[in-house]
Amino acid sequence: MKKTIERFIRRARRVIVISHVAPDGDAIGSLLGLGRALRWLGKEYTLACADPVPKGFAYLPGSETIVQPPPSGWPKGKYDLVISLDCGDLKRLGTAYDESLAGLPIINIDHHVTNTHFGTVNWVDTEAASTAEMVLELVESLGIPLDADMALCLLHGIVTDTRGFRTPNTGPRTMRAALKLMEAGAKLAEITDRVFNRRPLSAICLWAKALNGVQLDGRIIWSQITRAMRRECAFSENGDAGLVSFLATADEADVAIVFAEKSDGRIEVGMRAVPGIDVSAVALDLGGGGHPQAAGCTLDGSLDEVREKVLAAVKGAMKGRIH
Ligand code: AMP
Ligand code: MN
Ligand code: MN
Repeated sequence: MKKTIERFIRRARRVIVISHVAPDGDAIGSLLGLGRALRWLGKEYTLACADPVPKGFAYLPGSETIVQPPPSGWPKGKYDLVISLDCGDLKRLGTAYDESLAGLPIINIDHHVTNTHFGTVNWVDTEAASTAEMVLELVESLGIPLDADMALCLLHGIVTDTRGFRTPNTGPRTMRAALKLMEAGAKLAEITDRVFNRRPLSAICLWAKALNGVQLDGRIIWSQITRAMRRECAFSENGDAGLVSFLATADEADVAIVFAEKSDGRIEVGMRAVPGIDVSAVALDLGGGGHPQAAGCTLDGSLDEVREKVLAAVKGAMKGRIH
């Protein structure tokens, strides 16, 4: 698989690399890591994402080179290869994948169990804890030397997706990748400090409001974030500011869910589950995706409607729980 991907990359001249909407640390880290590899190979390339880079990731070298698609779409005929990173389905590339790219070969590099294999070449490794560690393996197999900046971006991807090496899919392979990246100059302490020890006051304000409304329904803990809360806290980004992972720490719960109203009125649903319960199946049924222990989807409807629908689906999935 890697060899086929290598061939496509070596032959390509102008590459567009895209990661998913509402990018997380793995999406951005993988994008920047692969971008540096393409630069080393002397390729012309664009790093793209439908949504802007979250402010907390702006410290990554090259983050300012990630572009959003122009309103009129990408120039026709500009690219000859599309690489999709950390993205389970084509729809999740959002407006960054437009009709000007249709017909081009797509290399799909990802680690979600819900991946739809939408690419021309699909390298979907569900054992990988992050797409960033897959990008590292590709970079190595291309014979590209690691530099400290590339290593920082890729380690940032690993650290964010494993929540600091704490997820159950963190294994020797992940640790080996992290070791190599640290040896190449990536500063683990800098990443963990930025990712886990810093947040804007507006996020704390949002947590305060959302925590106030936390509910426990059987072994499901849930809360919601409204547009009014975002406004009152001057929290300008979408997303849940990491709240769902915090709710998942409740002893009394096996599943944590945050329903977050986005600026466009749609509801982003973030879910976490203990091993033995698969929330990626629930998310997939609802048009989203993810991993067994961390998944999500975006739904139309009011907060109340979406909540009832998702809670019913999660309760259904919990009935089939393997003890
Ligand atoms: P999050 O709760 O945003 O941290 O997302 C957890 C996991 O679910 C990530 O691996 C995402 O790729 C996936 N995910 C989250 N939201 C969606 C969505 N709307 N559609 C597909 N996958 C999603
Ligand atoms: Mn991601
Ligand atoms: Mn990922």
